[in-house]
Amino acid sequence: MNRRVFLSLSAVATSGLAQENPEWHKPFPAFRIVGNLYYVGTADLAAYVIHTIQGDILINTNFPQDLPLLKQSIASVGLKYSNISIILTSHAHSDHDGAIANVKKETGATVMVMNEDASEVESVAKGRPATHVDRILRDGYKVELGGVRVIAHKTPGHTPGCTTWTTTMEEGGKNLECVIVGSPNVNKGYVLVGDKKYPNRPDDYVKTFAILNSMKCDVFLGAHGEYFNLKAKYAKLKAGDQMAFVDPNGYKTWVAAKEQEFQKEWARAKAAPGTPKP
Ligand SMILES: [Zn+2]
Repeated sequence: MNRRVFLSLSAVATSGLAQENPEWHKPFPAFRIVGNLYYVGTADLAAYVIHTIQGDILINTNFPQDLPLLKQSIASVGLKYSNISIILTSHAHSDHDGAIANVKKETGATVMVMNEDASEVESVAKGRPATHVDRILRDGYKVELGGVRVIAHKTPGHTPGCTTWTTTMEEGGKNLECVIVGSPNVNKGYVLVGDKKYPNRPDDYVKTFAILNSMKCDVFLGAHGEYFNLKAKYAKLKAGDQMAFVDPNGYKTWVAAKEQEFQKEWARAKAAPGTPKP
């Protein structure tokens, strides 16, 4: 890869990140959310394990520096790191996929990534995973293991292959639709109008909001704990409410607020094409 390509890829990889957050690398207790779905992330970087009889599915690895915490979290809920057999990600930004290469190397797991984000996961730019994507996913593809089905919904805009994962889990005799939102955020520094590298980005966000608005959501989850009030809900769960993460109204309210934020930034960007989000 020549130097110019390398530099432009690193710029994309770092500028795409949300602002550094002190909660990113802080430990957080791991716990069972509902059914066989577990929270194994940090205080803000959400990572999930879905446990099955044929192996476990990991959604998000977080940064390489968070890997010791991820391993501790998985062990603390009685699961085995070495049982991870499929690795998925919310989208191709280092706060979610940074340690994919490490986990793949250590567990031998299969990496599955939405088509439009695959080149970023395979990228050798600084901070990128530079790992082989074993299976390319497209919108609506199913990931199946040990009787569990996880569906990949392409919700682009934040990245071209940003993925919202859904699965059904049983808890207390009820089937609950679980939604792990990829990200609807327009980050600081994003050029929403007039970006030659991603000219149809606003249209992608519009599609994503239509998809998110149409989804049935019981258990509201996402790529960052702050999307779905991780801390407050965890406190409720610890106090004995096993349905603490069931929050269909919270999901709707949050998606509506994010759509308003997007529309506001889109209006600003249309009036000043080519300028980054302040
Ligand atoms: Zn991101």
